Amino acid sequence: MNGWRLAVVRAMWPIIIVPVAVVLAEITADHVRAENDPFAAARERMVREQIENRGVRNADVLRVMRQTPRHLFVPQSVRSLAYDDGPLPIGWGATISQPYIVAFMTEMLKPAKHDRVLEIGTGSGYQAAVLAQLTSKVYSVELVPELAAAARDRLRKLGYSNVTVRQGDGYQGWREEAPFDRILLTAAPEEVPEALIEQLADRGRLVAPVGSVWSQELVVIEKSNGNIRRWSAGGVQFIPMKR
Ligand code: SAH
Repeated sequence: MNGWRLAVVRAMWPIIIVPVAVVLAEITADHVRAENDPFAAARERMVREQIENRGVRNADVLRVMRQTPRHLFVPQSVRSLAYDDGPLPIGWGATISQPYIVAFMTEMLKPAKHDRVLEIGTGSGYQAAVLAQLTSKVYSVELVPELAAAARDRLRKLGYSNVTVRQGDGYQGWREEAPFDRILLTAAPEEVPEALIEQLADRGRLVAPVGSVWSQELVVIEKSNGNIRRWSAGGVQFIPMKR
């Protein structure tokens, strides 16, 4: 081959090699993911049928629901039900919420990349893990010491390093770390605690199930220049927030 032809062939190599390498790497990654995660197909189905089909459209929320291993947040005894369409018991009278509700509340919260978030009711830590992938820092308060300890341990092992869990009473919020850009309650008080509204940053948003054991609605609160705007996003059913 004469000189210039050889040079052209050499120049062509990266054009051929790079896309082939990229395709191979993606096939391998898919393979590894499917191989290591026997729940991958069930999780994909959950997102499509329970969440997208019911109208959740936020692409970031859908992406995070697709990549968060819910089966690792539930007790072994109910693991096979991890991607079913409902809440599951996690001990101490608590439940991990229905996947659709987690996605819907997260969408309503409108989390942004640089937000600092307060969650009340850590439970399994699943909702905190979802928020952690969409924001810069999550502070989560759980009343039951055993649940707080288990969630802290689980989140650390799974690598969600921007979540801090504390055992405490959610009615008080987390004064030392306030204000928060976003506040999410996953247990229902009879009325939104005043301390939490105070700990909401200006231009902040709070989402909470509010009401009695039998009848609750998902309340959204926005703070702007000290003014509070409040509306309901529909009926929900959560465990009551304990006093
Ligand atoms: N977000 C959780 C589900 C929470 S269930 C998850 O993703 O798994 C509601 C949780 O709120 C329970 O764990 C319950 O113990 C907790 N809780 C109830 N009352 C509370 C209070 N006053 N302060 C903090 N947590 C409370």
